[in-house]
Amino acid sequence: MAKTYAIAIDGPAGAGKSTIAKRLAKELGYHYVDTGAIYRTVAYFMDLLGVSPKDSDGVERYIDELTIQIEYDEEGKQHMLMNGMDVTDEIRTQDISQKASLVSAQPVVREVLLDMQRDVAKAHNVIMDGRDIGTVVLPKADVKIFLTATPEVRAKRRCDELLAKGQKVNYEQVLKDIIQRDYQDTHREIAPLKLARDSVKVDTSELDIDGVIAAIEAIIKEKIPV
Ligand code: C5P
Repeated sequence: MAKTYAIAIDGPAGAGKSTIAKRLAKELGYHYVDTGAIYRTVAYFMDLLGVSPKDSDGVERYIDELTIQIEYDEEGKQHMLMNGMDVTDEIRTQDISQKASLVSAQPVVREVLLDMQRDVAKAHNVIMDGRDIGTVVLPKADVKIFLTATPEVRAKRRCDELLAKGQKVNYEQVLKDIIQRDYQDTHREIAPLKLARDSVKVDTSELDIDGVIAAIEAIIKEKIPV
């Protein structure tokens, strides 16, 4: 099999990972994989069944009844299918963000999703974003970026994103949720969010999208023949 290239973009919620990764994937002709959406799909499924994301026995009991597929439309947008049903929009609420963070700490969930993510990277050149891509999922990724920004900047971005989707937002609540999710994601036992040893940290607090793209393109060019 021909060598595939992998670019890992990790970082906390709202750092701009998906916006940046989507644009770079388009420019490079790579597959963009938003791994947070996979955890969100698990959270949504458990929620529909009335299983708490903290209930490890319940999550373990029902996880085998869930089949997740990732599909892409003509514009390259990633769609999440939960047992054949497209839940791409349903998983984008504040409630599911929190539940995804809790369910993602369950060992059985991380185990099931690990192979799924690795299989995509074996088959395609990928830009994958998440929390543990450079540390656990693809430790041999050709490029590893850790994207971050202050909680306040990230909360403001998340508010703008939710507003654009017509959802009601309260900045203070979004900020509180982001700080709580940061805490949960960095303190869980398995695959916590942390900077990989060989990752390049990019702080996007003071940069616009073009500035971040330029900084990351320069890093990619050093490591991958593009
Ligand atoms: O990236 P996004 O905000 O959509 O992720 C939702 C949640 O899924 C995160 O708060 C995190 O707990 C979890 N996640 C994870 N590992 C990943 C991607 C997301 O644990 N690789």
